[in-house]
Amino acid sequence: MLGLYVHVPFCSAICNYCNFNRGLFDGALKTRYVDALVREIARAGSAGDARAAGEPRAADTIYFGGGTPSLLEPAEIARIAGACADAFDVSADREMTLEANPETVTADRLAAFRAAGVNRVSFGVQSFRDDELRRLSRLHGADRARAAFAEAREAGFDNVSLDLMMWLPGQQVEQWLDSVDQAVALGPEHLSLYLLEVYPNAPLKEEMARARWSQAPDDDAATMYLAAMDRLEAAGYEQYEISNVARPGRRSRHNTKYWTDGEWLGFGCGAHSTRDGVRWKNVSATEDYADRIGRREPTAVDVRRLSDAERLGDALFTGLRLSDGVDEAAVERRYGVNLWQRYGADLEPFLDSGLLKRQNRRLWLTRRGMLLAHEVMTVFV
Ligand code: SF4
Repeated sequence: MLGLYVHVPFCSAICNYCNFNRGLFDGALKTRYVDALVREIARAGSAGDARAAGEPRAADTIYFGGGTPSLLEPAEIARIAGACADAFDVSADREMTLEANPETVTADRLAAFRAAGVNRVSFGVQSFRDDELRRLSRLHGADRARAAFAEAREAGFDNVSLDLMMWLPGQQVEQWLDSVDQAVALGPEHLSLYLLEVYPNAPLKEEMARARWSQAPDDDAATMYLAAMDRLEAAGYEQYEISNVARPGRRSRHNTKYWTDGEWLGFGCGAHSTRDGVRWKNVSATEDYADRIGRREPTAVDVRRLSDAERLGDALFTGLRLSDGVDEAAVERRYGVNLWQRYGADLEPFLDSGLLKRQNRRLWLTRRGMLLAHEVMTVFV
């Protein structure tokens, strides 16, 4: 089934490390943007759209990502979800996720989002330490993050995810693990752990130089990752992807489509889609996107039919991100390629060094291998 992704590019302030497709909140532009989203979704579901010709396709996930989707009003989320339900055959048990920043929610707003159909909230917490949050120029503190979590529970959400970032400027292993422990103490169903990447033109880079903050040595970053995964496992979470852990049955259904060779449609500026072997991306600029929808012009750029080799490379690249790894027999059935015959000689050294495991024609990265995943994956690209 399809996954539907809706991009919301507005934020109350721009964080000093961010390189996502986002801009400052503008009420008038937001209203125009929501109208454009609804029209784009209707267009994708209509038979008049060359990419979507035929029967309405079944979809079982809707994911509002950003940006800060929780800056939209609950009624706007409901309207967009309604457009999805009109244009696609959205299953009754669909997963509908809203990314939310802790400072944008209240118990009432969360209850209204829930009434609008949202059944999973993903909070961008990043850290439970105020000094770290300040360094990242986040608008919330640790207390607000905890309060937002409690408000989500109060509103009836039984599927909550928290994002945390490690390897922050000035952060030591113990401080990182303190945030992990605080997250575990709340008991979310799902956690995503990311390594901070400081981009060359990020304002944070300059601030770090000025304040003489540095990131811990690489070995410490590896310890942060491995120790956090150990702790989370001990607390009953299962790691199912390089950066993601969940309670049993609580994996992100939407994101799993990205890692299992699935299909999804992305709506909004900069959103990516992959369907029927074709991949495309919408124009990135918010106004340009809304203008094009208003003029009934295509919003897709970079439309590309994937070659068999690219599809295979992607399937292996993303499949290895999963703890379950890659099923060689399934790859052979789908792509007609014997994985081990083609890549075995190049993969052998990674087996010998303990980064990769292979058993019963299944291939997966060990946890140490996940740290060096990019080196292993270069074999496939
Ligand atoms: S809230 Fe998220 S998307 Fe917005 S600026 Fe900060 S990191 Fe970027």
